[in-house]
Amino acid sequence: MNILKLVINTLLPPRCIYCGQITTSEHTLCTACFQKIRFISKPYCKVCGQPFETQSELLNKMLCPDCAHQKRITRMNRAAIFYDDFSKKALLALKFSDKPENAKLFAKWMKTAGKDIFDAGVDIIVPVPLSYQRLFTRHYNQSAVLALELSKLTGVEADVFCLKKSRHTKPQSALNAKARLKNIKNAFELKHGANINGKRVLLVDDIMTTGATLAECAKVLYKEGAASVDTLTIARTLK
Ligand SMILES: [Zn+2]
Ligand SMILES: [Zn+2]
Repeated sequence: MNILKLVINTLLPPRCIYCGQITTSEHTLCTACFQKIRFISKPYCKVCGQPFETQSELLNKMLCPDCAHQKRITRMNRAAIFYDDFSKKALLALKFSDKPENAKLFAKWMKTAGKDIFDAGVDIIVPVPLSYQRLFTRHYNQSAVLALELSKLTGVEADVFCLKKSRHTKPQSALNAKARLKNIKNAFELKHGANINGKRVLLVDDIMTTGATLAECAKVLYKEGAASVDTLTIARTLK
Protein backbone atom coordinates (compact mmCIF):
# COMPACT_ATOMS: atom_id res chain seq x y z
CA MET A 1 0.00 0.00 0.00
CA ASN A 2 1.45 3.37 -0.89
CA ILE A 3 1.77 6.16 1.68
CA LEU A 4 -1.03 8.31 0.23
CA LYS A 5 -3.46 5.40 0.34
CA LEU A 6 -2.41 4.60 3.89
CA VAL A 7 -3.06 8.20 4.97
CA ILE A 8 -6.46 8.26 3.23
CA ASN A 9 -7.42 4.92 4.76
CA THR A 10 -6.45 6.13 8.21
CA LEU A 11 -8.38 9.37 7.90
CA LEU A 12 -11.28 7.97 5.89
CA PRO A 13 -11.41 4.20 6.41
CA PRO A 14 -13.67 2.19 4.07
CA ARG A 15 -17.09 1.59 5.51
CA CYS A 16 -19.76 -1.06 5.08
CA ILE A 17 -22.07 0.14 2.27
CA TYR A 18 -25.08 -0.81 4.35
CA CYS A 19 -24.48 -0.18 8.06
CA GLY A 20 -21.48 2.16 7.95
CA GLN A 21 -19.19 -0.01 10.12
CA ILE A 22 -15.49 0.32 9.32
CA THR A 23 -14.37 -2.54 7.02
CA THR A 24 -11.14 -3.71 5.43
CA SER A 25 -12.05 -2.97 1.81
CA GLU A 26 -14.10 -0.45 -0.13
CA HIS A 27 -17.58 -0.86 -1.66
CA THR A 28 -18.45 -3.96 0.31
CA LEU A 29 -20.39 -5.19 3.34
CA CYS A 30 -18.95 -5.76 6.81
CA THR A 31 -18.78 -9.36 8.05
CA ALA A 32 -21.94 -9.00 10.17
CA CYS A 33 -24.02 -7.70 7.24
CA PHE A 34 -22.50 -10.23 4.82
CA GLN A 35 -23.58 -13.07 7.09
CA LYS A 36 -27.18 -11.84 6.91
CA ILE A 37 -27.27 -12.16 3.12
CA ARG A 38 -28.77 -15.48 1.96
CA PHE A 39 -27.09 -16.52 -1.28
CA ILE A 40 -28.93 -18.82 -3.67
CA SER A 41 -26.95 -21.96 -4.35
CA LYS A 42 -27.44 -25.22 -6.25
CA PRO A 43 -29.44 -27.40 -6.46
CA TYR A 44 -32.02 -25.30 -8.29
CA CYS A 45 -34.19 -25.73 -11.38
CA LYS A 46 -31.87 -25.45 -14.40
CA VAL A 47 -34.44 -23.30 -16.20
CA CYS A 48 -36.09 -20.92 -13.71
CA GLY A 49 -33.46 -21.11 -10.95
CA GLN A 50 -36.04 -21.90 -8.24
CA PRO A 51 -34.07 -23.65 -5.44
CA PHE A 52 -35.02 -27.23 -4.55
CA GLU A 53 -35.77 -28.01 -0.95
CA THR A 54 -33.86 -31.27 -0.99
CA GLN A 55 -30.08 -31.13 -1.20
CA SER A 56 -28.83 -33.60 -3.79
CA GLU A 57 -26.27 -33.39 -6.60
CA LEU A 58 -28.72 -35.35 -8.77
CA LEU A 59 -31.10 -32.37 -8.77
CA ASN A 60 -28.61 -30.10 -10.55
CA LYS A 61 -29.84 -31.09 -14.00
CA MET A 62 -33.54 -31.30 -13.07
CA LEU A 63 -36.52 -29.09 -13.80
CA CYS A 64 -38.98 -27.87 -11.17
CA PRO A 65 -42.61 -29.10 -11.59
CA ASP A 66 -43.67 -25.75 -13.15
CA CYS A 67 -40.95 -25.81 -15.82
CA ALA A 68 -41.54 -29.51 -16.48
CA HIS A 69 -45.20 -28.82 -17.27
CA GLN A 70 -45.04 -25.61 -19.20
CA LYS A 71 -42.41 -24.05 -21.42
CA ARG A 72 -41.14 -20.71 -20.16
CA ILE A 73 -40.65 -17.73 -22.40
CA THR A 74 -37.10 -17.17 -21.10
CA ARG A 75 -34.19 -19.61 -21.51
CA MET A 76 -32.82 -19.34 -17.96
CA ASN A 77 -33.52 -17.21 -14.87
CA ARG A 78 -30.88 -16.68 -12.24
CA ALA A 79 -30.55 -14.52 -9.12
CA ALA A 80 -27.73 -14.10 -6.62
CA ILE A 81 -29.63 -13.78 -3.34
CA PHE A 82 -33.01 -14.29 -1.71
CA TYR A 83 -35.26 -11.26 -1.48
CA ASP A 84 -35.97 -11.15 2.26
CA ASP A 85 -36.28 -8.44 4.91
CA PHE A 86 -32.56 -7.82 5.08
CA SER A 87 -31.81 -7.78 1.34
CA LYS A 88 -34.90 -5.62 0.81
CA LYS A 89 -33.44 -2.94 3.09
CA ALA A 90 -29.98 -3.29 1.58
CA LEU A 91 -31.35 -2.95 -1.98
CA LEU A 92 -33.44 0.06 -1.03
CA ALA A 93 -30.29 1.69 0.25
CA LEU A 94 -28.61 0.98 -3.09
CA LYS A 95 -31.54 2.30 -5.07
CA PHE A 96 -32.18 5.57 -3.39
CA SER A 97 -28.98 6.72 -1.82
CA ASP A 98 -27.37 7.89 -5.05
CA LYS A 99 -24.43 5.52 -4.74
CA PRO A 100 -24.15 3.76 -8.08
CA GLU A 101 -20.70 2.48 -7.03
CA ASN A 102 -22.51 0.00 -4.75
CA ALA A 103 -23.66 -1.72 -7.92
CA LYS A 104 -20.10 -3.06 -8.38
CA LEU A 105 -20.56 -5.46 -5.49
CA PHE A 106 -23.96 -6.67 -6.66
CA ALA A 107 -22.68 -7.08 -10.25
CA LYS A 108 -19.95 -9.38 -8.93
CA TRP A 109 -22.53 -11.56 -7.20
CA MET A 110 -24.66 -11.56 -10.36
CA LYS A 111 -21.73 -12.67 -12.52
CA THR A 112 -21.25 -15.67 -10.23
CA ALA A 113 -24.99 -16.46 -10.10
CA GLY A 114 -25.24 -16.14 -13.90
CA LYS A 115 -22.45 -18.64 -14.68
CA ASP A 116 -24.79 -21.06 -16.52
CA ILE A 117 -26.08 -18.18 -18.65
CA PHE A 118 -22.64 -16.81 -19.55
CA ASP A 119 -21.44 -20.38 -20.28
CA ALA A 120 -24.40 -20.86 -22.66
CA GLY A 121 -23.47 -17.59 -24.39
CA VAL A 122 -24.64 -13.97 -24.24
CA ASP A 123 -24.27 -11.41 -27.05
CA ILE A 124 -25.80 -8.37 -25.39
CA ILE A 125 -26.82 -7.23 -21.89
CA VAL A 126 -30.03 -5.20 -21.73
CA PRO A 127 -31.48 -3.59 -18.58
CA VAL A 128 -35.17 -3.34 -17.78
CA PRO A 129 -35.97 0.33 -18.48
CA LEU A 130 -37.51 2.95 -16.21
CA SER A 131 -40.01 5.51 -17.43
CA TYR A 132 -38.71 9.06 -17.82
CA GLN A 133 -40.83 10.24 -14.89
CA ARG A 134 -39.24 7.76 -12.53
CA LEU A 135 -35.79 8.36 -13.98
CA PHE A 136 -36.30 12.03 -13.14
CA THR A 137 -37.12 11.40 -9.47
CA ARG A 138 -34.53 8.67 -8.97
CA HIS A 139 -31.71 10.25 -11.07
CA TYR A 140 -30.55 6.95 -12.52
CA ASN A 141 -31.84 3.55 -13.56
CA GLN A 142 -30.30 1.03 -11.16
CA SER A 143 -30.79 -1.79 -13.67
CA ALA A 144 -28.77 0.14 -16.26
CA VAL A 145 -26.00 0.69 -13.71
CA LEU A 146 -25.96 -3.07 -13.00
CA ALA A 147 -25.90 -3.86 -16.75
CA LEU A 148 -22.88 -1.60 -17.27
CA GLU A 149 -21.01 -3.10 -14.31
CA LEU A 150 -21.76 -6.63 -15.55
CA SER A 151 -20.54 -5.62 -19.00
CA LYS A 152 -17.23 -4.44 -17.49
CA LEU A 153 -16.85 -7.71 -15.57
CA THR A 154 -17.74 -10.06 -18.44
CA GLY A 155 -16.65 -8.18 -21.57
CA VAL A 156 -20.15 -8.63 -23.03
CA GLU A 157 -21.54 -5.48 -24.67
CA ALA A 158 -24.40 -3.68 -22.85
CA ASP A 159 -27.03 -1.52 -24.55
CA VAL A 160 -28.76 0.44 -21.81
CA PHE A 161 -31.17 2.12 -24.23
CA CYS A 162 -32.17 -1.02 -26.17
CA LEU A 163 -35.55 -1.32 -24.44
CA LYS A 164 -37.70 1.64 -23.50
CA LYS A 165 -41.00 2.22 -21.79
CA SER A 166 -43.74 2.97 -24.28
CA ARG A 167 -46.00 4.35 -21.56
CA HIS A 168 -45.99 5.16 -17.86
CA THR A 169 -46.86 2.31 -15.47
CA LYS A 170 -47.62 2.22 -11.74
CA PRO A 171 -44.88 0.86 -9.44
CA GLN A 172 -45.26 -2.94 -9.54
CA SER A 173 -44.52 -3.25 -5.81
CA ALA A 174 -47.92 -1.73 -4.96
CA LEU A 175 -49.89 -4.33 -6.97
CA ASN A 176 -50.88 -7.98 -6.66
CA ALA A 177 -49.77 -10.61 -9.19
CA LYS A 178 -52.78 -10.23 -11.49
CA ALA A 179 -52.69 -6.43 -11.44
CA ARG A 180 -48.95 -6.53 -12.15
CA LEU A 181 -49.54 -8.43 -15.38
CA LYS A 182 -52.14 -5.94 -16.54
CA ASN A 183 -50.09 -2.90 -15.45
CA ILE A 184 -47.04 -3.97 -17.44
CA LYS A 185 -48.73 -5.44 -20.54
CA ASN A 186 -47.41 -3.88 -23.76
CA ALA A 187 -45.49 -1.28 -21.73
CA PHE A 188 -42.13 -1.81 -23.47
CA GLU A 189 -40.72 -1.37 -26.94
CA LEU A 190 -37.37 -1.55 -28.71
CA LYS A 191 -35.64 1.78 -29.29
CA HIS A 192 -35.69 2.95 -32.87
CA GLY A 193 -32.82 1.43 -34.83
CA ALA A 194 -31.85 -1.20 -32.25
CA ASN A 195 -31.07 -4.56 -33.82
CA ILE A 196 -31.22 -7.66 -31.68
CA ASN A 197 -32.04 -10.06 -34.50
CA GLY A 198 -30.39 -13.44 -33.83
CA LYS A 199 -28.77 -12.20 -30.61
CA ARG A 200 -28.68 -13.97 -27.26
CA VAL A 201 -29.95 -11.32 -24.86
CA LEU A 202 -29.37 -11.14 -21.12
CA LEU A 203 -32.07 -9.08 -19.40
CA VAL A 204 -30.94 -7.47 -16.15
CA ASP A 205 -33.00 -6.10 -13.26
CA ASP A 206 -32.50 -5.65 -9.53
CA ILE A 207 -35.32 -7.83 -8.17
CA MET A 208 -37.52 -10.59 -9.56
CA THR A 209 -40.80 -11.07 -7.70
CA THR A 210 -43.58 -12.41 -9.93
CA GLY A 211 -41.37 -12.14 -13.02
CA ALA A 212 -44.10 -10.22 -14.89
CA THR A 213 -41.87 -7.31 -15.91
CA LEU A 214 -39.04 -9.56 -17.10
CA ALA A 215 -41.47 -11.77 -19.05
CA GLU A 216 -43.02 -8.73 -20.73
CA CYS A 217 -39.58 -7.41 -21.76
CA ALA A 218 -38.62 -10.90 -23.02
CA LYS A 219 -41.77 -10.99 -25.15
CA VAL A 220 -40.70 -7.78 -26.93
CA LEU A 221 -37.14 -9.07 -27.43
CA TYR A 222 -38.36 -12.35 -28.97
CA LYS A 223 -40.80 -10.49 -31.18
CA GLU A 224 -37.85 -8.44 -32.47
CA GLY A 225 -35.90 -11.60 -33.32
CA ALA A 226 -33.77 -12.37 -30.24
CA ALA A 227 -32.32 -15.90 -30.44
CA SER A 228 -32.70 -16.37 -26.69
CA VAL A 229 -33.50 -14.31 -23.61
CA ASP A 230 -32.13 -15.05 -20.13
CA THR A 231 -32.77 -13.04 -16.99
CA LEU A 232 -30.37 -12.19 -14.18
CA THR A 233 -31.28 -10.25 -11.04
CA ILE A 234 -29.57 -9.48 -7.76
CA ALA A 235 -32.45 -10.91 -5.72
CA ARG A 236 -35.60 -12.98 -6.16
CA THR A 237 -38.56 -14.00 -4.06
CA LEU A 238 -39.39 -17.66 -3.72
CA LYS A 239 -42.62 -19.22 -4.91
ZN1 LIG B 1 -22.48 -3.71 7.72
ZN1 LIG C 1 -38.23 -24.18 -12.96
